[in-house]
Amino acid sequence: MSPAPVIEIRDLHKSFGTLEVLKGVDLRAMKGEVVSLIGSSGSGKSTLLRCANLLEHCQSGDILFQGEAISWKGDAHGRQPGDPAQVTRIRTNLSMVFQQFNLWSHMSILQNVMEAPVTVLSQPKSEVEARARALLDKVGIGDKCDVYPAQLSGGQQQRAAIARALAMEPEALLFDEPTSALDPELEQEVVKVIKALATEGRTMIIVTHDMKMAADVSDKVIFLHQGKIEEQGPPEALFGNPQSARLQQFLKSTA
Ligand code: ADP
Ligand code: MG
Repeated sequence: MSPAPVIEIRDLHKSFGTLEVLKGVDLRAMKGEVVSLIGSSGSGKSTLLRCANLLEHCQSGDILFQGEAISWKGDAHGRQPGDPAQVTRIRTNLSMVFQQFNLWSHMSILQNVMEAPVTVLSQPKSEVEARARALLDKVGIGDKCDVYPAQLSGGQQQRAAIARALAMEPEALLFDEPTSALDPELEQEVVKVIKALATEGRTMIIVTHDMKMAADVSDKVIFLHQGKIEEQGPPEALFGNPQSARLQQFLKSTA
C-alpha cells in the first residue's frame, strides 16, 4: 500500500458569516512534496493554510494528517475539532511560518526557538538548546542566539522563525507569504533557506506571491481563484502553459 499523504484536504468549505471563502477545495501533499498556493489577494490562500493546521474551523470537508482524519464535534454551524490531543499533535506536526514572523519580542532568538519544544513537547532543555543552536546555524544566524528580535533585520527574523518552526521537528512546514514583508534584497536570503529545505526533501505548503520561487521549488502549484481551485499542476505546465484565462491574466499581473 502506498503511504498516506502527509496532509490531505477534501472538499473543504469555509465561511466567515455569510461570506463563503473556500468553496470545496482539495489539496494533498505527499511526503517530500512542495506544494505552492498562488492566487490574488482575497482568494482564500491564508484561510486554506489556517484550516489545514486547525487555526480556523471549517463548515464541512475532511482534513487528514498521515491518513488520520480530524474528528469534529458539532455541525456546520458550529463545528470544532473534537479531540484536543489530536489538535496538538497536528499543530506540532504542521509548523507554520507567518508573513510577519511573529517572534516573541521579549525573548532572545535562542529562547524563541526553544520555547515550544520545551513547553509544548516537554523535551529536555539541554537537548533542545543543542538542536536550536544547530538550526540557527543552518539558517545562517548562529551568531544571533542571544539578541532580541528587534535587533535583527526582517530577513534574519524570518530565518529565526523558520528555525523555530523546524525545532518542532514537524512532518511538514506551512508558509504563509514568508517573503512578502521583506525588502527585495532581504527576500533572497529567505528564499535561499526555503530552497535548501526543498532540496532536503521537506514536505512544504507555501503560499507565495513569488512566482519565481514557486517555479523553482514546487512539485505542484495550485492556483486559487475566489475560493476554488481554478488550475493546478507541475510548475512547468502552470507557468509555461497556463490553460485558464484567469490564470493567464493573474500571471500577467504578477510579471
Ligand atoms: P488570501 O490569503 O488569498 O489573500 P484570505 O484567506 O486571507 O485570502 O481571505 C479570503 C477572504 O476571507 C477575504 O475576503 C477576507 O477578507 C476574508 N477573511 C479572511 N479572514 C477573515 C476573518 N477572520 N473574518 C472575516 N473574513 C475574513
Ligand atoms: Mg493571505
